[in-house]
Amino acid sequence: MIDGWIRRRFFWYLRREVVVEWGARRTGRCNRCGRCCRGCPAFDAKGMLCRIYPLRPEICKAFPLVPKDIAEIEGCGYEFRP
Ligand code: SF4
Ligand code: SF4
Repeated sequence: MIDGWIRRRFFWYLRREVVVEWGARRTGRCNRCGRCCRGCPAFDAKGMLCRIYPLRPEICKAFPLVPKDIAEIEGCGYEFRP
């Protein structure tokens, strides 16, 4: 989990062009399964909701940034075209 946290910040703050590139290949939509939020202190696991949803960081709004972000999340509504 921490490796994903670090990877996302690496791409978000230092390699934004990669995020933009993969963003153009991203399809699908969030089905609000909450799997990508597990472990975050703002995630209400019981209600399966982000407690700060209207104020969530831009990096959360942009998830998934690169294919690796969802490689181990079964059922994410997003996909990346190769
Ligand atoms: S794992 Fe994917 S579908 Fe599920 S909440 Fe996160 S972005 Fe949305
Ligand atoms: S969307 Fe909310 S719960 Fe999910 S990682 Fe971001 S701040 Fe945490």
